Amino acid sequence: MSSKQQRNEECVKVAMRCRPISKQEIQDNRQEIVKIDPERGEIIVNNPKGEGSENKNVFTFDVVINQKSTQEHVYKMTALPIVESVLEGYNGTIFAYGQTGTGKTHTMEGNNESPDNRGIIPRTFEHIYRVIEGTPSKQFLVRASFLELYNEEIRDLLAKNAKNKLQLHENPDSGVYVKDLSSFIIQNPNEMNKKLADGRENRKVGATKMNEGSSRSHSLFMITVEMSEIKDGQQHITVGKLNLVDLAGSERQSKTQATGERFKEAININQSLATLGNVISALVDNKPYIPYRDSKLTRLLQDSLGGNTKTVMIANIGPVDYNYDETISTLRYANRAK
Ligand code: ADP
Ligand code: MG
Repeated sequence: MSSKQQRNEECVKVAMRCRPISKQEIQDNRQEIVKIDPERGEIIVNNPKGEGSENKNVFTFDVVINQKSTQEHVYKMTALPIVESVLEGYNGTIFAYGQTGTGKTHTMEGNNESPDNRGIIPRTFEHIYRVIEGTPSKQFLVRASFLELYNEEIRDLLAKNAKNKLQLHENPDSGVYVKDLSSFIIQNPNEMNKKLADGRENRKVGATKMNEGSSRSHSLFMITVEMSEIKDGQQHITVGKLNLVDLAGSERQSKTQATGERFKEAININQSLATLGNVISALVDNKPYIPYRDSKLTRLLQDSLGGNTKTVMIANIGPVDYNYDETISTLRYANRAK
């Protein structure tokens, strides 16, 4: 096994999820172009305009999740091992990447239509408190913060009067942190879900031509777990941090016909997604220099990307023909992170 593969398994995992065809897409007679073989970790995308050998694009990933997979399966294959390691005192990050409308928010948050639809974030809450209940030998303190990054500006989603333009600071002990970001001690999954709902209310969304109400910002739900236990008469404290990130849509700005303010947004979004891709690919390739400083997102996540941490990138795609270009672009982006 090469060193790249070893690092990959320890540090960065890439999962690919394809959502089912939508009612609208069926109505519009759209053609399904994505085929998934979970056993082989393989995904085949047919070029609707291609011929012969140009017709087929084959990609492989650590985990591939097909259109029929349950939210529970997605949790098990992606988040579960990271949450376990956070509860052992490591840092971890889970990203949802992809074009608007491909299921990032469905994957991260899910919906309340049925308990089966709960996404990674609420399942994480339950998992954490289940472990706490089952570990009477340790004391736990769980804190939550929720912010969004919009045009390279940080906004606190849980502050009473939603505060804009928070600054990143750095200190030798705690590393990079957001000055004045509110943080709450949380006792149970219900309280956590309440914070998630409060933050969502506050979340800035901008309509684009592609999808009314689609999010043009990255959202980051941060959970810090402090654990203390007495060993040989001495108190031991460990801290694990988990970042749950619903990234802004990765679609190219030309498709949304952006101008003015929207155009500035699109450029910032693309830059931070490009930097994230560069950081992850530098980590996977074991490069000596990791360009964390090139965007606020990666600076903020610096102590939870690389080193002793676990990361999973879930790349989301749609199944039909008119998304072909964006689908290929998402698969290429994710491919770099392997
Ligand atoms: P994004 O956050 O990437 O813009 P959403 O999560 O909002 O995308 O998903 C777009 C639409 O597709 C929503 O109506 C969502 O409920 C639906 N959807 C996404 N993924 C799935 C899935 N795996 N199963 C069923 N519906 C899904
Ligand atoms: Mg979304």
